Amino acid sequence: MTGHSRDELRGRQAASVLSETGDGTGVIHAKNGDAIAVRLRCADTPHGKVAAFAPVPRIDQIEQLKNELVGTVSHELKTPLAAIKAYTATLRDNPALYEDRRTEYLAIVEEQADRLSRLIEDLLLVTRVEGPQLLRRRIAVGLNEVIERAMAGVRLDPALHHIERPARNVMLSGDPDRLCDVFRNLLENAAKYSPDGGPIEIRAKETADRVVVEIADRGAGISKDDLPYIFDRFYRADSDLTRKTGGSGLGLSIVQALVRAHGGTVEARGRAGGGTVFAVTLPVRA
Ligand code: ADP
Repeated sequence: MTGHSRDELRGRQAASVLSETGDGTGVIHAKNGDAIAVRLRCADTPHGKVAAFAPVPRIDQIEQLKNELVGTVSHELKTPLAAIKAYTATLRDNPALYEDRRTEYLAIVEEQADRLSRLIEDLLLVTRVEGPQLLRRRIAVGLNEVIERAMAGVRLDPALHHIERPARNVMLSGDPDRLCDVFRNLLENAAKYSPDGGPIEIRAKETADRVVVEIADRGAGISKDDLPYIFDRFYRADSDLTRKTGGSGLGLSIVQALVRAHGGTVEARGRAGGGTVFAVTLPVRA
């Protein structure tokens, strides 16, 4: 980033290439005279001072992201709102509707309102994902507890989906709220992308320093062409199913950012016989 070679830097004062500007930010003074804005974290260690930094996204990248966000979000807001308006108008204008019709229309209104609130939750998370305060605390928490909480936020049709929980309650280390976001998103996708139903299996494997939690569904699967991109922001596979289900394409990018903030990884793979497996690997200790 500085444009200097290692030898040019050796023996120089750190402050000649990197200065702190406060509030977790700093500036790199590059060899060619450029001042590069960075996010900066410093720590004192027994061996000296350690500074970790990353470039702050450039304005044009932020501008592009903003445009993408506004485009996707306005589409995703309009669709459920249009349905809510249409069904409430029908209910208002037809007081004599049969009871079962009224119930059906109200269920649609509720479902679309849920879709809106999930989108808003995702948007709030995505703004936080970039900030330094992503993980508020890091404690030991049982996987089963996280899964129970995550499940409370997922709408499942028991006639279609049956959740198989891990046999043993393994311990995870992390921010329970954010881990809950991770598994809520993965479970929601497992249900959403298996419209014909099928079991959703949650498996946990422990090694000395890691826990691997797998969420496996028997759904539509992800094509080889889409697999490399599904964790990208706004990426959605181009299929009838994704068009029908709706979504912002933000969920998996949030999952990945949260898992990485914990020092872990997340991967997706296809399943013999159809379906998808998401494997979340987390360190056992912070
Ligand atoms: P969204 O669900 O809002 O589209 P995500 O970021 O959660 O966004 O997922 C990105 C894409 O990955 C989805 O549009 C879908 O094509 C694919 N996908 C995610 N989870 C699954 C799954 N369990 N089975 C099949 N496809 C999936």
